[in-house]
Amino acid sequence: MFKTMIEPFRIKSVEPIRVTTKEQRKHLLEEAHLNVFKLRAEDVLLDWLTDSGTGAMSSAQWAAIMLGDESYAGSPSFYRLEAVIKDITGMDHFIPTHQGRAAEKVLFSAVCKKGDLVPNNCHFDTTRANLEYAGVEAVDLVIPEGLKPSLIHPFKGNIDLARVEETLKLHGARIPFGMITVTNNTGGGQPVSMANIREYSRLLKKYNKPLIMDVCRFAENAMFIKIREPGYENKTIKEICQEMFRYADGATMSAKKDGMVNIGGFIVLRDDQWLDSVREMLILNEGFPTYGGLAGRDLEALAVGLVEGMDEDYLRYRLRTAEYLGEKLEAAGIGFVKPTGGHAVYIDAKTILPDMPKEHYPAWSLCNALYLEGGIRGVEIGSVMFGKHLPDGSETYHSMELVRLAFPRRMYTQSHFDYAAEAIAEVKANAKLVRGVKFVKQSKYLRHFTADFRWA
Ligand SMILES: *Cc1c(COP(=O)(O)O)cnc(C)c1O
Repeated sequence: MFKTMIEPFRIKSVEPIRVTTKEQRKHLLEEAHLNVFKLRAEDVLLDWLTDSGTGAMSSAQWAAIMLGDESYAGSPSFYRLEAVIKDITGMDHFIPTHQGRAAEKVLFSAVCKKGDLVPNNCHFDTTRANLEYAGVEAVDLVIPEGLKPSLIHPFKGNIDLARVEETLKLHGARIPFGMITVTNNTGGGQPVSMANIREYSRLLKKYNKPLIMDVCRFAENAMFIKIREPGYENKTIKEICQEMFRYADGATMSAKKDGMVNIGGFIVLRDDQWLDSVREMLILNEGFPTYGGLAGRDLEALAVGLVEGMDEDYLRYRLRTAEYLGEKLEAAGIGFVKPTGGHAVYIDAKTILPDMPKEHYPAWSLCNALYLEGGIRGVEIGSVMFGKHLPDGSETYHSMELVRLAFPRRMYTQSHFDYAAEAIAEVKANAKLVRGVKFVKQSKYLRHFTADFRWA
């Protein structure tokens, strides 16, 4: 057919983007203490900080908002969403939360205890922080291919089953459940194969451990399975999602991703073993079990969004978006996590700034440079996010220095991506001018959100 894949939607309502000059951006970034999290969104041209809660809702979702019933208990909006979620997940219990980390916090504080250990392909930053805050060791066991940015593999999000079994043998008594993140956000938005989920579930069962999936991007993962895993090419996205959920005993979800909404999350559980303690924590932290930190209208928007998020035309365009920018970066000689993930492109900062010492935080510095050059806001996934400041004053560093450009759903068009590709190539051409950074101030948990920096 045609080479150009169109955005499978048209625009009904627009938001202006304010254009800034390089000179203005330098001033704005310095005012933000060289931390793009501290910029005002109005001062950003392409806001690719995150795909979380930033997407455009459809006209059907906005219409559903008006159906929201704000009853404190037993709202029909809850039951409408529950029916949609049960249909996709096959799980008996649906517990709404205000976002993904609330689902994690509620579940972990109900089920984990100090000294426990939880394996995962890669824990997302909030997942890791919530576990560590509860005194639980969060262990990443992604396959070795998942840690090599330039290596092509269809399912780089797969968990290393041999290392899982080793961990189960060594630390079985400390493990309340196994987790797997689909797609693997921290490892490049890379998918997990159905075979890997199935085998992981079987392995956990052998040791009598439940499987909890972190399903923020379950629909994008399902589309990758459809495209890449033999035997799934003729299945619908919903059928693939249903099979993924069949292997799990529960899941945590940030609906701000594949839920296609601006706020929301949930826990689902297959049986009622943990239900009472989870509900107790929910009421304490979030709210009554039929709204859990959300308004009735949010529940309605999610009920529509979950179904729209599984639309095949949408998902095909969605995955193509990242792939398209990847092709342009490849042409400019810029390294990135390959193949491109579902929701984002992860630039390998070491390929643009090979000589910058890790002590100057190359990925953070590249992130700043993208803002200065093109007004593009990405996020560092490197040693600021995952390194640690130890009590003796020394620093630990992450194995990868990535800048993630995450794409809000249904929001930017092809010309925005063409512009970005030009700006990124320009940063590479002038890489010698990119300045490193040093910490001025940092907090103990999730330090990247609030840290202040100076030029190195
Ligand atoms: C976003 C995300 C979370 C946390 O969800 P929030 O809604 O941001 O609290 C957890 N896990 C993964 C994989 C995510 O991408």
